[in-house]
Amino acid sequence: PIRVRFCPSPTGNPHVGLVRTALFNWAFARHHGGTLVFRIEDTDAARDSEESYQQLLDSMRWLGFDWDEGPEVGGPHEPYRQSQRMDIYEDVARRLHEAGHAYYCYCTTEELEERRDEARRAGRPSGYDGHCRDLTQERIDAYRAEGRDGVLRFRMPDTTITFDDLVRGELSFEPEHVPDYAILRANGKPLYTLVNPVDDALMEITHVLRGEDLLSSTPRQVALYKALGDIGIGTGEPPRFGHLPYVMGEGNKKLSKRDPQASLNLYRERGFLPEGLLNYLSLLGWALSEDRDLFSVEEMVAAFDISDVNANPARFDLKKCEAINAHHLRRLPAQEFARRLVPFLQSADLLPAEPSAEQLDLLAKAAPLTQERMVVLSEVVGMLGFLFVSPDRFEVDEADAAKSLGEDAKPVLEVGVKALEDLEDFSPEPIQATLREALVEGLGIKPKFAFTPLRVAVTGRRVSPPLFESMELLGREETLRRLRLALA
Ligand code: GLU
Repeated sequence: PIRVRFCPSPTGNPHVGLVRTALFNWAFARHHGGTLVFRIEDTDAARDSEESYQQLLDSMRWLGFDWDEGPEVGGPHEPYRQSQRMDIYEDVARRLHEAGHAYYCYCTTEELEERRDEARRAGRPSGYDGHCRDLTQERIDAYRAEGRDGVLRFRMPDTTITFDDLVRGELSFEPEHVPDYAILRANGKPLYTLVNPVDDALMEITHVLRGEDLLSSTPRQVALYKALGDIGIGTGEPPRFGHLPYVMGEGNKKLSKRDPQASLNLYRERGFLPEGLLNYLSLLGWALSEDRDLFSVEEMVAAFDISDVNANPARFDLKKCEAINAHHLRRLPAQEFARRLVPFLQSADLLPAEPSAEQLDLLAKAAPLTQERMVVLSEVVGMLGFLFVSPDRFEVDEADAAKSLGEDAKPVLEVGVKALEDLEDFSPEPIQATLREALVEGLGIKPKFAFTPLRVAVTGRRVSPPLFESMELLGREETLRRLRLALA
């Protein structure tokens, strides 16, 4: 049975690279009817926080992911937070040491750096040189007497390490490029290099799909699995690895965690739909077919094959991400679209926490005027705010007023007010007909000069949803009040 894991460290806002990794693991598990394990790699007390942990769970839920084992759902390998598994790692480390797979290294940072520089100057590989591999007991005692605390290092085998990557094919690493590495800090705390493979072995993970930035740790982990098998942890067989391509951002640089463009919260706050964002992120390294960019998450799951993932770096293209989101917005049923707008109007103080039936009704009528034009949901504030703002807070955009509500506009507004005051049926068709007659024919001005001042006066902006529908939704009284306000 297929078992994959998603195992982020809660070190800040989730970023899009992380979401892509979660998505590919989730799609892989769901496609094969496998198990997705959600594990929290929070062994770095200095960088991990409870707040980030909560944010992580919240983000995963918002995106629509579910997991079969992990926080909130439990499972046979509990706990799933590494900070609660420290005794396991300490025990494993001790056993690796006893079996000779690991040894204490007493080199100071300065000593290591000095030898590294020397190796560089001599053109030799500059990784750890194995200085403490075979210390005599006397040397060890001497170092201890000096007050040195050792880091525990894993003893790499002197052989080539080869594995068949699901994305990049067969990869080989020569021993001189994979030096012995630390698995416990000098203070005895376990490092990622140890805890990640230990848990993958204990949790019987069969496939590891993760970012290419972790490729250099893979040969180390492959060797560690063998040693773990030796001391009775797991089978000794490494899982299959698939390294997902880098995501490039602006200027063809790797998208970094700190890049503002990379923060998931930003997309959430701007009003991307989870389905739109996931559709776009799936294209970072994968394709449903050559000629289809738009699809649902379910379609992705049905078609997902890890061997179709492309090893070349993928470029994060915000414009395309927006276009795909706009498409998913347009595809939402009208009611659902309106429902998703509510929180954005609420956070702009345009709707109360408990909107009234009339307010929701107005939104249901107004939302269709914007659905085709919207890229992200937060645009609703600019597009429909004029309908929801309380009369005393309504304001006309200053720049737009300067452009369109000058002296020339006065006669237009006056005639407009008159025409609408006398109109019996205040619905879009008659509104349009009567204004056309009074302004375009009556005053002999072009439609653009007739309607722009009205639009700015009524909606507060030169760009708005269709004018006559907007007037209808606003109602005769408020429409006239705003027109007169612009005249004052
Ligand atoms: N906690 C690691 C990270 O967030 C997981 C890496 C892995 O998937 O092995 O980078």
